[in-house]
Amino acid sequence: MSNQAWHKYRQRWADAGNPLTGWEYVDIEDMQPEREVCSFCPKLLRYVHIIKHFEQNLTERVGCICCGRLTGDEEGAKKRQDSKKHQNIRKSNFLKNGWCETETSDGLLWTLSARKAECKIFMHAVGNYTAKICPKNLEKNVPLITIDNDTYCVFLKEMQDQVFEKYDMLK
Ligand SMILES: [Zn+2]
Repeated sequence: MSNQAWHKYRQRWADAGNPLTGWEYVDIEDMQPEREVCSFCPKLLRYVHIIKHFEQNLTERVGCICCGRLTGDEEGAKKRQDSKKHQNIRKSNFLKNGWCETETSDGLLWTLSARKAECKIFMHAVGNYTAKICPKNLEKNVPLITIDNDTYCVFLKEMQDQVFEKYDMLK
């Protein structure tokens, strides 16, 4: 972004009554496959940085550069976006073999074989899942991870994401 553009957006932001300082980073979201427009500049974003102004109780959704400038931590914003990108690469490697669905006598079973573990998700009834992550490298003595969900409110996709998050933490 040119300096001139930055000043233009900065002015527009201030004119709208938004504070220019005092913003803090709170979270980052990957919008894939959607895109979202930065609240500060017209850039279309895949990665949305969520910033909060606690004093004025404001929340805004901006891109990496605008987040860095508004929070005064450009390096931090870039690092968080890079780490999200790397996590996405690890996730596509994890999903390479795909989830395989089979019917069992009392529900549905999805299995996925990834580099570090065999993963299973069992659905007992609609929205009632149990997942197991069995590490392949037993020498490292990593225990089997079980995720129980009996709240009847999650979708399979959410359960698969939870499995990935646990898998991703395996050494
Ligand atoms: Zn922006």
